[in-house]
Amino acid sequence: MFADVIVDISHSEADKIFEYSYSDCKVLAGSRVLVPFGSKTIEGIVIKTKKQCEFDEKKVKPILSVLEETPALTNETLALSEFIVKTCFVTRALSFRLFLPAEMRKGRVREQFVKYAVLDENINTDELLSSLKKNALKQRDLILFLQENGKTALSYLNENFGSAVKALTEKNALIITSEKRFRSPYKDLGGAANRVVLTDKQQQAIDFIEKSENLTTLLFGVTGSGKTEVYLDLIDKTLKKGKTAIMLVPEISLTPQMLKQLRARFGENAAIMHSGLSAGERYDEWWRLRTGEAKIAIGARSAIFAPVENLGLIVIDEEHDGSYTSESAPRYNTVDVAKFRSHYNGAKLVLGSATPSVESFLNAQNGEYGLFELPDRINKKPLPDIEIADMRKEVRRGNNTPFSSALKDELQKCLNKGNQAILFLNQRGYSKTVVCTECGHVQKCSSCDVSLTYHREDDSLLCHYCGAKYKMIKACTECGSPYIKYGGFGTEKIVADLKVLFPSARILRMDRDTTKNKEGHFKILNEFSSRNADILVGTQMIAKGHDFPFVTLVGILDADMSLHFSDFRSAERTFELITQVAGRSGRAGEAGKVVLQTYQPDNHVLRQAINYDYKGFFEREISIRKATAFPPFTEIIRVLVQSENDALALDTVKELYDEIGTIKRARENCFRFFGCMKAPLKKLQGKYRYQILMRIDNGNEDILEGIFRSVNAKNKGKINAYMEINPNNLT
Ligand code: ADP
Ligand code: ZN
Ligand code: ZN
Repeated sequence: MFADVIVDISHSEADKIFEYSYSDCKVLAGSRVLVPFGSKTIEGIVIKTKKQCEFDEKKVKPILSVLEETPALTNETLALSEFIVKTCFVTRALSFRLFLPAEMRKGRVREQFVKYAVLDENINTDELLSSLKKNALKQRDLILFLQENGKTALSYLNENFGSAVKALTEKNALIITSEKRFRSPYKDLGGAANRVVLTDKQQQAIDFIEKSENLTTLLFGVTGSGKTEVYLDLIDKTLKKGKTAIMLVPEISLTPQMLKQLRARFGENAAIMHSGLSAGERYDEWWRLRTGEAKIAIGARSAIFAPVENLGLIVIDEEHDGSYTSESAPRYNTVDVAKFRSHYNGAKLVLGSATPSVESFLNAQNGEYGLFELPDRINKKPLPDIEIADMRKEVRRGNNTPFSSALKDELQKCLNKGNQAILFLNQRGYSKTVVCTECGHVQKCSSCDVSLTYHREDDSLLCHYCGAKYKMIKACTECGSPYIKYGGFGTEKIVADLKVLFPSARILRMDRDTTKNKEGHFKILNEFSSRNADILVGTQMIAKGHDFPFVTLVGILDADMSLHFSDFRSAERTFELITQVAGRSGRAGEAGKVVLQTYQPDNHVLRQAINYDYKGFFEREISIRKATAFPPFTEIIRVLVQSENDALALDTVKELYDEIGTIKRARENCFRFFGCMKAPLKKLQGKYRYQILMRIDNGNEDILEGIFRSVNAKNKGKINAYMEINPNNLT
C-alpha cells in the first residue's frame, strides 16, 4: 500500500506530496507518521492512502512508524486544511499546524499515566489479616482502607501507608495498574448551573435559529439581552442530538467565565482550548475532544479548529471582534472557517453581537444570514445613560488630571452606595510617552519607530510592539536635560491617581501586565465579581462580555483613542467599543450610568453610540463604504515588505509595485486603488517596512493568486514579504 504524505516543513519548496509505502494497517488518512526524508527522519501527515504508486515503486521509501493510533486529522479537517491553503495562501504543512496542539509536533509532550493499587480479588482478606504480624499495624490499616475505598492512587497510598504498600505488594496482595490521566485545567471552577426560565424572546430566538433555512444566523442582541442563555440552550439541544459544538469568545480572558457556565451545565463535556494552558493540559484537552470524550470546545479564535467530529453547532460570540482575524500566517478569518465547517457538517452557525460587523449586518440585510434581534435587556432593564464629558472644557478650567469632574462625582456616588465601577482605558503602563521638556525629544525604541511607555512598577521603559525593556532615563538622551515629563497616561497611573482621590476604595487593575500567568485573568475577575474590590481599571480585556451585576458606573477615559487610527474601520471600532464598555453597566439591580470622556464631543460616531443607534450608524457607514469602494464592497489587499536593510526593502517594494502594476493593467477595471508607500509603522523590530495597498473588487481570486505568487517569490534571504487580505490592523 502507498500513502500521500505532507512532510512537516513549512517552506514552500517542500510543499509537495511525497509518496511512501507501508504495510501497517494503522496508517490511515489523517495519521501522523514518521518518514525518512533525505538523510533525516521527520514527521508528516498522511492525506491519502492508495493501492497504486505514481512514483517509481522501487524507489519509494517506507513509512517508519505511525505516531498515534487515532489519526490526528479527520476527513473534515483534511478538507478544511485544503481550504486554508487556497484562501490564505500558505503551504500545506503550515495549514496543518492550525489543527494540532503545538506540543504534539516533535513529541514534546507525553501522555501522563497514573498508577493505582487495588486489593487482589482472589485473595481472602480475612486470612490475609490474620496472617499479619501483631505489630504490622500499617499493613492492617492499608488493607482495611482498600477494602473500604477500592482502587486508589498509588502516590496517595505511599504517602499515607509508607512501607506497608511495599510489604503487601511483595505478598502479591495488591494489583497495580497504570492508567492514562487527562490533565484537567481549571479543575476548581465551582458553581452550580444558574438555571433560568428563558424569556419568550430567548425562546423565539432559539426556535428561529433551529428552524431557519439559513445555516447562519446573526443574533443581534443588545448588551445584557441574554444571548449566553440562548447559546447554552442551543448547545444543550445539539448534544441531545448526539452532535458536538464549538463556542468561541473573543478574549482569552472570557474563556474561564464561559467555561464555568459550560462546566456547570455540561460537566466534563466541555473542553477548553486556551493558549495560556500548560503544554500538557492543552494536549490532553485536545485529545478529549478528538476522541469524543468531550463534546464542546470552548476557546478564542483558534478553537474553531477543534478536532470534533459530527459538528452540530458553532457559536461565535461578539462576532464583530477584531481578534477573529489572525494576524500571522495562516491569516485566516474565523467566520470564513466557521462557514466552511458549518457547510461541511450542515451545522448551525450563530454569530452573536450587540454591534455586528458592518459586513455581517449587510449579509443579514441581503438575506444571506438569518437575522434575529433581541432589542431589550433581560427584565427590560434600560441601557445605561451615557453622559459626555467634554475634556476641552476640563482643560480650560485647569483640570489636567485624567478624570473629568463628572466622572469624579459619579465615582463618589457609586462608592457611597457600595456599588462597583469599571474604568476603561486602552493603554497599559504609567505614561504613554516620556518627553524632554527642554528639547522635546520623545524616547523611542531603538528597533521600532514607536515611543516607549513608562512602567512605574519596574521603573522601566517598554516597547509595546517588540517587548524591549529599557532602564528609565535620568536625563534626556538627546540633550542631557534632567527635566523629563510624562505624556499621556496608562492604567498604572489611573490606579495611582485613584488611590489618592479615593483612599479607602479597593482597586484592581487588569491589563496584559497583571495577567501574565494562566490564572491571572481568572483571579482578578473573581475578586471583582465576589465584590472584594470597588473599582476595576482595565484595557480592552474588560471591555466586553463580562457580566458583573453590581457595576453601576462605567468610565470611558479616552473615547477618542480609536478614532485617530487611519484605518477605514476606526468608526466601526469606536462605535463597538463604546457600546461594549457601556454595556457592562447597570446589568442587574440599579440603573447604570456611563461617563464618556472625549475631546470631540460632536463627533457623529460618538453621538450615535450614546444613543445606542446601531442601525443609524450602520446606514451611514455602509453608504460611505459603498461610495468610497471600501470593504465589504471591495477587498483590501496589503503587501508588506520588511527588511533590516532599508534600501533593499525599498528596492523590493518598487519591483513588486511594477510587477503587480502589470497585473493591474490587464485587469484595470477591477482595481479601485493602487499605491505604494512607507508603512504607518516605518520600522518594527529592527526592520524597515514598506507597503503596497490595493482595493480590488470582490471575487477576483485569480488576481490575488497572481499577487501572491509575485510576493512569495521575493520572500527570501534578507527580505520578509507577505500579502494580507482585509487585514485587521493596518499599522
Ligand atoms: P449578553 O450576552 O446578551 O450581554 P448575558 O447572556 O450575559 O447577556 O445576560 C445578561 C444577564 O441576564 C445575565 O446575568 C444572565 O444570567 C441574565 N439572564 C439571562 N437570561 C435570563 C432569563 N431568562 N431570566 C433571568 N435572567 C436571565
Ligand atoms: Zn532633551
Ligand atoms: Zn520595539
